[in-house]
Amino acid sequence: MTRVYNFSAGPAALPLPVLQKMQAELLDFKGTGMSVMEMSHRGTVFTEVLVRARDTLRRLLNIPSNYHILFMQGGAIGENAIVPMNLLGGERTVSDHVISGAWSIKTQKEAGKYGESRIIANADDGQGRFTYYPEPSSWQLSDNSAYVAICTNETIHGVEWYPSAELTARIEASGSFLVSDMSSHILSRPLDVSRYGVIYGGAQKNIGPSGVTFVIVRDDLLDRAQAICPSAFTWRNVADNDSMFNTPPTLGIYCAGLVFEWLEANGGLTEMAKINDAKAKLLYDTIDNSRLYRNDVQPTYRSCMNVPFFLNDESLNQTFLDGALAAGLAGLKGHKMVGGMRASIYNAVSMEAVQALVAYMQAFERQHA
Ligand code: PMP
Repeated sequence: MTRVYNFSAGPAALPLPVLQKMQAELLDFKGTGMSVMEMSHRGTVFTEVLVRARDTLRRLLNIPSNYHILFMQGGAIGENAIVPMNLLGGERTVSDHVISGAWSIKTQKEAGKYGESRIIANADDGQGRFTYYPEPSSWQLSDNSAYVAICTNETIHGVEWYPSAELTARIEASGSFLVSDMSSHILSRPLDVSRYGVIYGGAQKNIGPSGVTFVIVRDDLLDRAQAICPSAFTWRNVADNDSMFNTPPTLGIYCAGLVFEWLEANGGLTEMAKINDAKAKLLYDTIDNSRLYRNDVQPTYRSCMNVPFFLNDESLNQTFLDGALAAGLAGLKGHKMVGGMRASIYNAVSMEAVQALVAYMQAFERQHA
């Protein structure tokens, strides 16, 4: 068996023990004589899978009891519509948006279909480059917003940031709350869920296969949906039916549950944070100490999950990628919007993988100096 080191941004690497467990259980899931994909989602066997996944996620992130965990479909882009449809049905019909990169731009545009979506801060340097988060004191908060949308890890631009308790308090004092797209860094470290009204994202980076969307929503926000909101996307319906208002993505939820258990067995998120910080430090140090590679993000905002970098001599890009693949390092091509390279170093990408990448980068630089 040959497995590469996979730096893909998503769908992305999954922990090998999880894949092996899925393989072992594929044909006969827990003595049922069928795979987990072939059984009723309403039966006791699958119900147990879903409840276990949800409860493990709650323990991992220490999610307070006044929040629901929903497993949905439609991805984070779907949720960009589902969020405003669920939150703008009351008196407040404005959403505030902080623009920090490609994904928060998409979120703001989509929300505009369901209400007024205002840009209250924008880190665009004028040429579509994003290297920091706007300082919260500069945000032009509306006095009547239903919520303030942020993306705390921008997968394409490689910026990451967490709001402070003080910021949350300021926003909540105005009757609003934070909603964050955490698709690409959920579970990378411990998180204070209580700072947010809603956290959402697609599973296909740090959680499992694509097709599952997670939504962590404070209970008091479940009843603000617009009348046009599709029943299957109305959080209240999904919450009241334990994520089974309609048939859930059963295989994906099962896999996500195994990933949650793998995280728990490996020390939980405190341990993950240590490993993720060490991986990111090694990679950023290598870039900063090199004359060939460059990362333009301001150091405090550098993402620990998505590390975009550029070769100062761009004519070497394809040679770099070809050599990387030959060395067993896959998925390094940067997003087409920004070019260059990107190494996504999610939880399932080991320190060993980052060490192999760094060794390749250094050897490549020596060769092409
Ligand atoms: N938000 C972020 C931060 C993402 O990284 C992605 C996927 N790369 C999306 C939204 C879109 O997710 P999906 O394709 O699952 O809709």
